[in-house]
Amino acid sequence: MSKHQFQAEVNQLLTLIIHSLYSNTEIFLRELVSNASDALDKLKYLTLTQEEYRGVPFVPRIDISFDTKDRKTLTISDTGIGMNARDLEENLGTIARSGTKEFLQAMAADAKKGAGLIGQFGVGFYSSFMVADSVEVITRKIGDEEAWKWTSDGKGEYEIAEGHRDSAGTTVILQLNEAGREYADRWRIEGIIRKYSNHIAFPIHLHYQEEGPHGGKVDKDSQVNSALALWRRPKSDLKEEDYREFYKTLSHDTDDPLHWIHQSVEGALAYTTLFYIPSRAPFDLYRYDYQPGVKLYVKRVFITESEKDLLPVYLRFVRGIIDSEDLPLNISREILQKNRIMENIRSSSVRKILQELAHLTKNKELYEKFWTEFGRVLKEGVLQDFEHKDMLLELLRYKSTASPHAWTSLSEYRDRMQKDQKAIYYVTGGREAGLRSSPLLETYKARGIEVLVMDDEIDEIVAGSIGKFMDFELKAVNRSATADDLKTEEDTTKAAAIEPLVQRVKKSLGSQVKDVRASSRLADSPSCIVMDEHDPTVQMQQILKMMGNKDLPEVRPILEINPSHPIVTKLAAVQDESVILDTSLLLLEQALLVEGGELKDPAGFVKRLNRALEKSL
Ligand code: ADP
Repeated sequence: MSKHQFQAEVNQLLTLIIHSLYSNTEIFLRELVSNASDALDKLKYLTLTQEEYRGVPFVPRIDISFDTKDRKTLTISDTGIGMNARDLEENLGTIARSGTKEFLQAMAADAKKGAGLIGQFGVGFYSSFMVADSVEVITRKIGDEEAWKWTSDGKGEYEIAEGHRDSAGTTVILQLNEAGREYADRWRIEGIIRKYSNHIAFPIHLHYQEEGPHGGKVDKDSQVNSALALWRRPKSDLKEEDYREFYKTLSHDTDDPLHWIHQSVEGALAYTTLFYIPSRAPFDLYRYDYQPGVKLYVKRVFITESEKDLLPVYLRFVRGIIDSEDLPLNISREILQKNRIMENIRSSSVRKILQELAHLTKNKELYEKFWTEFGRVLKEGVLQDFEHKDMLLELLRYKSTASPHAWTSLSEYRDRMQKDQKAIYYVTGGREAGLRSSPLLETYKARGIEVLVMDDEIDEIVAGSIGKFMDFELKAVNRSATADDLKTEEDTTKAAAIEPLVQRVKKSLGSQVKDVRASSRLADSPSCIVMDEHDPTVQMQQILKMMGNKDLPEVRPILEINPSHPIVTKLAAVQDESVILDTSLLLLEQALLVEGGELKDPAGFVKRLNRALEKSL
């Protein structure tokens, strides 16, 4: 016998489960049955593909029994792959999933949020400690002679000792606690299995006692699930409830899914797909080592759930199943990635999912919910998936100056465009409120031209890569040439008038700017900065720096000054070079600050500001 400590994360998870899921303890059974089903899936796969296991008799079943007299134990047993001592240590003493540590720490720091998110994290085996004082796992791995017994009361430690089992598989015995007693009941168990595990593809037998015909009790057992792979049943047979519960079994999410897409394809290739869009983003959505959510089956035999290439990276939030009739059972990862059949299924699946999302846009409320959770990830698709770019563009939603609170699509923007408007305008960078009050928007506001407000970090790259949407170019308002679209004759006249000043400002700022120009995009502000057509913006430079790019070539902004602003018109009459220098710097510095940029010389800025204040008082 050997004693072991749970990994620290397991203890944290146990505490979280007990504190946040106490009103929903019944899910422990779903989790244990789902583990049993996974174990059967794995063994089935081995017996079908591995020479050494071909002769092994495989009689898949899950048995549930309970102590009918005292209601103190509940037993869930499977004839699956089983575990050896090492598997036990790795699987029931640690949490292997990457990102767990950070996730649990964040959850522990915010108990309320933790309660909401713990379900979607997937609580698994450990949820049994909600209803049990102690748990025993007796297991034997396929191909092994010896069996093992794992025991724990869920309080920091577990034991592994030699055990006994006649054949491969796993038996989990729960010593029910006070609250768990209610589950030692035939109808309660049947209800839970029907609710969550009806479509587990292997038979689940429930053992119970009934009054015999001549008095006394007789032992009975009956199959309590339909054991038909849900995705293989015709849509017309399935109720919404069936889809929802299946999702929970599949994903371990405790929330309902937002939407699902079920399709059976017959023809040159035959396959079935069932995809779900969760209602909340999984915790590891932005980790490079995220866990993929789509399982691959071949003719109902489970093949893999860890293959990230089944769908493109930008659809990594999708959960579900792909079941092919044509792939070989023993397909290796390497082959899978280059397989033509798989490529075909993948590409039609992407199309189908995007079509369905387009359909979902008609339900504004639902689509906005989707967009808030997954919009950012979908935007990655614009950069990655050229084949479906047009479909993706229709799915994008942005904030806009035309609608302060709502999201808008590019099509809606286009429909609102002014008759002679030449392009789709957008502003990118920091926070939404800052962007909305940016001086760069002044002319657009004055002329009633809508500007898309893009406050997501990724927007600048994505918008920059869109190019055209329905013949209209997307143009960033902080680019030097963008304002040319709006230039009037009056602007040209005014610019000519202050040309001498422009030259003086340029001289005094020297190498701090790339150029100084008279602006046609300002109304109330005296100055703004813009970037030359192909230079990175202030935000982009900050992102690049954050990503560790140290030796970036210095990018200098273009300073634009407003020929109608009193500061500028008055400055034109000033002779004193030191005043010109101070004012030029202040015009540049304030424009930088408004854009969320950093000042090179804050102390100098304050001195200049104070000199100006003193003069004005
Ligand atoms: P998850 O099922 O989400 O991976 P669990 O905590 O429920 O997380 O289980 C951890 C691991 O323990 C499983 O991935 C599996 O490898 C192993 N396991 C659990 N139950 C069984 C079982 N009945 N038979 C074989 N292995 C099991």
